Amino acid sequence: MMSSEFDVINEYFTLNNRRSDVSLAVGDDGAVVTVAEHNQLVVTTDTLISGVHFPEHSKAEDIAYKSLMVNLSDLAAMGATPAWVTLAITLPEINPTWLSAFSAQFARLLDDFDLSLIGGDTTRGPLSITVQAMGFCQKGKALRRDQANAGDRVYVTGSIGDAAIGLQVLRDEISDDRLRPCIDRLNRPMARVAFAQDLTTICCCAIDISDGLVADLGHILQASQCGANIKLNNIPLSSTAQYYFDQYHDNVTDWSMLITRGDDYELCFVSPAKNETVIHQLSDKHHLHVSCIGEITDGNDIGFYDEYNNRWHSNDTGFKHF
Ligand code: ADP
Ligand code: MG
Repeated sequence: MMSSEFDVINEYFTLNNRRSDVSLAVGDDGAVVTVAEHNQLVVTTDTLISGVHFPEHSKAEDIAYKSLMVNLSDLAAMGATPAWVTLAITLPEINPTWLSAFSAQFARLLDDFDLSLIGGDTTRGPLSITVQAMGFCQKGKALRRDQANAGDRVYVTGSIGDAAIGLQVLRDEISDDRLRPCIDRLNRPMARVAFAQDLTTICCCAIDISDGLVADLGHILQASQCGANIKLNNIPLSSTAQYYFDQYHDNVTDWSMLITRGDDYELCFVSPAKNETVIHQLSDKHHLHVSCIGEITDGNDIGFYDEYNNRWHSNDTGFKHF
């Protein structure tokens, strides 16, 4: 019978600690890790609250997966190599079935990304999970939001809008197996960690798409004091997204939905035009689709253009100025 916080920590949160740069992990008052001299520490944290960031009845393994992955996506957006994680978890009760599922999935991802869980906090209350992820990058090489310049190209990885479609499919209670990949994208995004690390060799400006392309590209533009022109037709859609619009949206692509919603956890990055060839090479190396969707301007807003090069206006007016 689990009686205390310490039993829970011992049983479920004393996970792999194989990294040689960890001197002290779970079990002391603080963790001790070593950052190599030529590197800088990159730190990020995100909280997921039940009923706010995930539905109350989400599976423990999906919650574990997403709470860690959204943080890894932030590290990817910085071009960092993930290394250490802390986990502050608030639990309504000690439920061994839930905890085992959570901890097993968490441990699998730690292994996949060569991460150590080095500490955390365990408390009682409404379910809430805060992960802090730490990693490193070479001094001065972090990918930042404030480094875009007029004339640079704007790229995105993977495909855009699948998570938004996944959420819509769940809300509309559509049961169609062919839409499953969009629901998977919602529950199991994949942070572009390895690609981003290579990106630091040729580029210095990126963000991860967690609030929709418009909002997140908007953050880059605001930080860099510039604008962008984006070609809607260059925004990459998955075959599942295309199928969704064909079958459930009268063959009409809902661009507003694709670009203003959704947590795809793809990267949006900006790079001078001369890097085009190297970017294609990185895309091949990582088997990750990369699309050039437009370019940075010296304006102060995002212009979207349709296939006839006409300026496109969303019916959703909220995003045009930021
Ligand atoms: P303290 O009272 O010194 O804050 P705690 O009793 O909160 O320590 O935690 C004991 C040890 O277990 C610490 O090393 C802490 O980092 C670790 N720990 C607590 N909860 C978790 C958790 N959910 N995941 C990983 N480590 C945890
Ligand atoms: Mg404590």
